[in-house]
Amino acid sequence: MSTGPLSKELFHASKKLMPGGVSSPVRSFASVGGEPFFVEKAKGPWIYDADGNSYIDYVMSYGPHILGHAHPEILAKVQKSLERGTSFGAPTGFELELAKLITDAVPSMDMIRFVNSGTEATMSAIRLARGYTDRNKIIKFDGHYHGHVDSLLVQAGSGVATLGIPGSPGIPKDVTKDTVSLPFNHLQAVKDAFQKDPKAYAAIIVEPVAGNMGVIPPKEGFLEGLRDLCDQYETLLIFDEVMTGFRVSRGGAQELYHVKPDLTCLGKIIGGGLPVGAYGGERKIMEKIAPVGHVYQAGTLSGNPIAMAAGIKMMKLLKEESLYQNLDYRAHYLTDELKKAAEDKGVPMTFNRVGSMMTAFFHEGPVENYDDVKKCDDRRFKKYFHAMMVQGIYIPPSPFEAWFISTVHTEEEFKTTIDAHKKALEDL
Ligand code: PLP
Repeated sequence: MSTGPLSKELFHASKKLMPGGVSSPVRSFASVGGEPFFVEKAKGPWIYDADGNSYIDYVMSYGPHILGHAHPEILAKVQKSLERGTSFGAPTGFELELAKLITDAVPSMDMIRFVNSGTEATMSAIRLARGYTDRNKIIKFDGHYHGHVDSLLVQAGSGVATLGIPGSPGIPKDVTKDTVSLPFNHLQAVKDAFQKDPKAYAAIIVEPVAGNMGVIPPKEGFLEGLRDLCDQYETLLIFDEVMTGFRVSRGGAQELYHVKPDLTCLGKIIGGGLPVGAYGGERKIMEKIAPVGHVYQAGTLSGNPIAMAAGIKMMKLLKEESLYQNLDYRAHYLTDELKKAAEDKGVPMTFNRVGSMMTAFFHEGPVENYDDVKKCDDRRFKKYFHAMMVQGIYIPPSPFEAWFISTVHTEEEFKTTIDAHKKALEDL
């Protein structure tokens, strides 16, 4: 147990210095009530707080830790890399190595540019799409979250949905006037938008599997339909695979659904838990970026050697044969058991899952778009969240987030989770 201050003391002191006491809003427990725990350390599928409690973690830093927390080989690689220095402002072979590993796994990416977060990746991809097509308008989807990019904070998911913020003050209307947000899984709405304004759209940006309003898979034919429309109207298709990249399969959602985007945004897993993002795509598009082209985008810490080193080790470890098959099998088992328990207890719930990302919605379903998500029983979710916490299970403190399962969540942890779930449902 930590001998330092307790979570309560840390939270109260943090609130005086940091808005909400946190560096990112959902962490504050604002939507579920109560106070967040402060983390002491994490290992494998477990996270430990400053108060001596341990939890089976299904947040996993919101996705990066597909191999569990503090993977020894990733730590060793980072430690070795640290000895050479932390940042140079000059290129390293690490960037080349990671670029090769990623572009080999994601064949739609001929070229890649590293940035520091998912937000930077989507922001830069949008700029590139606009520069490449010489058009301004963007289509996104309701409940999808692409980071806190001004022009994309329209009908956004994740923390924006969690806190019920309709849009954000501080973003001029002029900045969002070119963003059109449409219902996910509704191809006709996209067709209508193109028919109305055929030469207006620079890009469609989509989470190919929605994860930021809870997990919602694309309906059959939806992604293919977007591809066809983009070809027809000479618009770029951007897959925001910050969450799904190297998560739903090694080659991301584009590999799983066999749809090739023009640009792909990545983050989370490719940094092995360190701050990284990336965007990439066809050579002729990527060569519009400075210094080859005139679309400007830069970063003091971009391609940071420590983050690259962690990413390299992660990418290599993810090559293990059957890793994704095993993960899918195990996530399927957990989801199925949770679902059966909800049915037994007569609690109307829907479990959406793609690979190792899953959400338990308090609604009889189906849950196929943001309107469906908004029908979920928020009050029940809050009670459920706290009932799971007291039993040592940490799920995301929001009904609008994905649960993440790692390769080191074992049957034992699953059994504990299923028992806790049954008990939590009884007390709702
Ligand atoms: N895009 C998607 C799909 C995400 O899930 C997120 C973050 O959760 C982002 C973009 C933004 O990434 P970051 O938080 O690293 O800026």
